[in-house]
Order: sequence, then C-alpha cells, then structure tokens
Amino acid sequence: MSSEIRKIPYTKPSITELEVQYATDAAANGWGEHCYDYIVRFEEAFKAHLGVKYAIATSSCTGALHMGMHALGIGPGDEVIMADTNWIATAAPIVHLGATPVFVDILPDSWCLDPEQVEAAITPKTKAMVAVHLYGNLCNMDALLAIGERHGIPVIEDAAEAVGSVYHGKRAGSMGRFGAFSFHGTKTITTGEGGMFVTNDPDLYEQVLTLSNHGRARGQSKQFWPDMVGFKYKMSNIQAAIGCAQMQRINELVGRKREILQSYKEEFENLGVTCQGFNPELDGCLIGAWMTTVVIDVPSENSTLSESLQTGLKSRGIDARPFFAPLSSTPPFQSLRNGRSHCKWSYSIPPVALNLPCSHEISKSDISYVANAIKEALS
Ligand SMILES: *Cc1c(COP(=O)(O)O)cnc(C)c1O
Repeated sequence: MSSEIRKIPYTKPSITELEVQYATDAAANGWGEHCYDYIVRFEEAFKAHLGVKYAIATSSCTGALHMGMHALGIGPGDEVIMADTNWIATAAPIVHLGATPVFVDILPDSWCLDPEQVEAAITPKTKAMVAVHLYGNLCNMDALLAIGERHGIPVIEDAAEAVGSVYHGKRAGSMGRFGAFSFHGTKTITTGEGGMFVTNDPDLYEQVLTLSNHGRARGQSKQFWPDMVGFKYKMSNIQAAIGCAQMQRINELVGRKREILQSYKEEFENLGVTCQGFNPELDGCLIGAWMTTVVIDVPSENSTLSESLQTGLKSRGIDARPFFAPLSSTPPFQSLRNGRSHCKWSYSIPPVALNLPCSHEISKSDISYVANAIKEALS
C-alpha cells in the first residue's frame, strides 16, 4: 500500500463491545423506573475515580460551567479571570451570564494560567478565576488556590481536557470550588456529547442540582413546580451507559494517551526531528496527555510554521490541528485584548505549535509516519 493514501485522524473515540452492549441495554431497557440507572452509575463511578463528594452528569462541559458559574452568583458587571489561551467554551458561559472574561497570559512551561498575572488582574469586580488544564497539562493549583484564598475568590477548574491528570496526588477537577469535565467525542473518555459537574461543597451541589432540573428543588413535592428559573443541561441514560463502559476502561484509555505522547517523543528523537518540546509534565504532576502537542520552534508571533506544517501534513493524509489561538485574537473578544500587559506566550506559542494525531487506536507505524512527514515538511 502506498503511504500516500494513509488517512490519520487527529482523534477518534475508543468504542468497544462493552460500550455497545451498555448503550444497547439502555436503549432497550433504560426507560420508566430505569431511566436514571446508568446516569446514577456513571456519576458514582466518576466520583469514585476523582475522589470528590458530588457529581452531576450534564449534556456538556459548557453546561456544567454555566450552571456552576450561575450558582456562584456570577452576573452582570462581574469579571472572571482566565487564560487567553483557551477554547471558547470556557468564556461563553461567562458572557451568557452578563459578566466579562479577563484574559491573562499562560506560562511557557505549562501552557496554563500565570498565577502572578492572575493576581495582578484582580479588581473589586473579580468574582472568580477559571483554571483550565490545557491539553491535560496542569495549572499551578497551589499558587492559584492561595491567591483565591487571599482575595476571597473561588477557583473554578475547567478539567475538560484533563481526565487522568494528577497534581501532587490530587486529580484535576477535584481541587477547586467546582470542576467541569467534557465527554465530547474528541476527549479522552466520551459519551458522544456530555459533561460532568463535580464539587465537594454540599450547598453548591444542591444549588446546581436544582438548577439542572429546571429549577425544581429536590425536596419539592408539588409536580411541575419550579422554585426558580433553571437550566436544562441533563445527560441522557443512553449517553451515560456509554460513559459507564468508558469509566471501566479509564486506566487503559488514559494510559494509551500517555503512551502515544511517549511514542512521539521517541520517534522525534530517533529521526532527529528537532523541536522545543512536547506537553510539559512538571514536578509532582502526572498529565493525562489528552492531546499530543509539539512546539516545533522557538515561540514567535510572526511565524507561519504551524500553518504551513499543517498544510504539508494534510497533503500526506495527516490531520494535525493548530494550537488554540488566543481568544482575544478572535472576533467575539478582540475588544478585550489586554492592552496593559500583552499576553506574550498566548500569542507566541500557537504559530510554532501543533496538535498531532493521537486517537487511542493510532499505531506505532502511524506515529512514525507522522514524525517522518514532519521531518520532510520541515526540510
Ligand atoms: C472541550 C472543552 C470544553 C467544552 O466541552 P463541551 O463538552 O463541548 O461543552 C470546555 N473547555 C475546554 C478547555 C475544552 O477543551
């Protein structure tokens, strides 16, 4: 077979007989009095994995963030600090609540929030900060939690990309006031679409539970009787069934992601492809390695390296993706570009960085093929 016709997707869920079996069971039997069985089971499994007290399965991570932020009282006039380097899903709920995202820079060695810049950005309007564990890397949670403590500001963890990531013995998503996860089809574990709200705070849990059920409080005995205006961000039993199967396989799924990252590092070394580095794993951290990401050259705002490399790989059937553009460079947020202290790393890493194909099923030979293609495209 000619290597030209290889097609290598950048991600793809890992679905086995187990997922199919559970989903089939949910579709056949998960109705009536059984309509929540898999949802409850999925939440229990996720709580046990993460080591948190409460979990609510949701239709998406965005929905989990929206409800959690609403429950924290974030609203018009408030500011929420987050990294400029991000997927829009973290910022959208802030905007929907009438608040303003305040973008600060990332650190070059974690690609996550710079704690010093977070502290400098705090104003009387600051209502929260969102720690996004980008690509499964880990934020400096000790520093962020200390800043939050000092200023009375909650730390929200967007752990959408960080299933399997562990910070000094604690799982990503379990350390902040609340955490949010995504089970979108591209993520390490998937339910097609889906998310999870997690917290150790009993009051916050009750609030979000009520919000998630169209504002109907748990103890409310009247039917069709909302106690407040809530949301409808629920996960279905069929999605949760797939989630239950994925949770049974979580160590295998995370392990495979870490293995893929390692294989890329080895292939680059074997082939002599020079690069600045891959997903950083700082001392005391274990990364879930959701998305193998390589920084090819020295960070630069002017380089078109990432773009041309992506095009070069595409012509060889390889679907690589760009590193997240700074949100303040995108149309909805250009007016929020931080003029005082320009987000240097958020702007200088994407032009020289690339997400590499890393579906669970990618073969050693595919990884070698990708590394070779990068070598060719660079020469
Ligand atoms: C995927 C992702 C989300 C959104 O997840 P959905 O389940 O699609 O809502 C939020 N934040 C980050 C960092 C993500 O990568």
